[in-house]
Amino acid sequence: MRAMVLNRPGAALEWTELADRQPGPGEIRVAVAACGVCRTDLHVLDGELPDPKLPIIPGHEIVGRIDAVGAGVEGLRLGERVGIPWLGHTCGVCPYCIGRQENLCDRPLFTGYTRDGGFATAAIADARFAFPLGEVGSDVALAPLLCAGLIGWRSLVIAGEGKSLGLYGFGAAAHIVAQVAAWQGRSVFAFTRPGDLTTQAFARRLGATWAGGSDEMPPKPLDAAIIYAFVGDLVPLALRAVRKGGRVVCAGIHMSDIPGFPYRLLWEERQLVSVANLTRQDGIDFLALAPEIGIVTETTTYPLDRANQALADLRAGRFDGAAVLVP
Ligand SMILES: [Zn+2]
Ligand SMILES: [Zn+2]
Repeated sequence: MRAMVLNRPGAALEWTELADRQPGPGEIRVAVAACGVCRTDLHVLDGELPDPKLPIIPGHEIVGRIDAVGAGVEGLRLGERVGIPWLGHTCGVCPYCIGRQENLCDRPLFTGYTRDGGFATAAIADARFAFPLGEVGSDVALAPLLCAGLIGWRSLVIAGEGKSLGLYGFGAAAHIVAQVAAWQGRSVFAFTRPGDLTTQAFARRLGATWAGGSDEMPPKPLDAAIIYAFVGDLVPLALRAVRKGGRVVCAGIHMSDIPGFPYRLLWEERQLVSVANLTRQDGIDFLALAPEIGIVTETTTYPLDRANQALADLRAGRFDGAAVLVP
């Protein structure tokens, strides 16, 4: 197999030939057909997340077909198309696992961070954490659903039922969530980097009622806002934009420091919460709904060996939607 490998934080990924791997008990091997590139991959690369496995193959939005099945795997078959998400393994016995909050497991493994991911021609996964994807939709179009879609979905559920929804940072996750929210009959207010008129037009094209810079106030107070950008300065801005009792959800795994702000921005029962990881139930719920919603993902594809370019373009905001690597 071949892979783009991170040997140490801060370095570029290296094109590497590796011995073929065999799935262990309870595992599957997948021939990777497409793997999305996520902001979290940049945080892994930059050493902003603690204790990565090193060397590591990044990538946690994997679409591929099972080409080897380990002992004891049930419910999946050779040749089946599956998706492998960020949540790669949970312990099953900690209080969070038992309490149906496996996204908060005390001893988890995360794909592309603490177990090898999908910037490769093949990936090994714990079979219980792979999602059957069926045959509808192209591999490339489905890849961004595996994290941008799933985390987007979880953050949307946690944002509550409010009709007016703000999305700060209009990248891969927001461009999917905007479509889900519009389908649910909500009004989406999209906030981009100030002056990013291209992305604002992109947001309107996807059904946003209003699009503007993150330094602007929406035309009316929001019921809830979700922050996908990793910019702590957005937290007080989003709190300012929500109504009394409104909720602000931080959906990223890493964020720059949140600046001090006056208590009156939180007063009147405004809530500030974060969203971490996903549960398998989130994946089942969202992936069942996605075809019904008719989500169209905007993707820019790169050959696997151009992963460093894809990551650089993501960092610089050089495309709308999501980047996807194809081996
Ligand atoms: Zn991700
Ligand atoms: Zn656990």
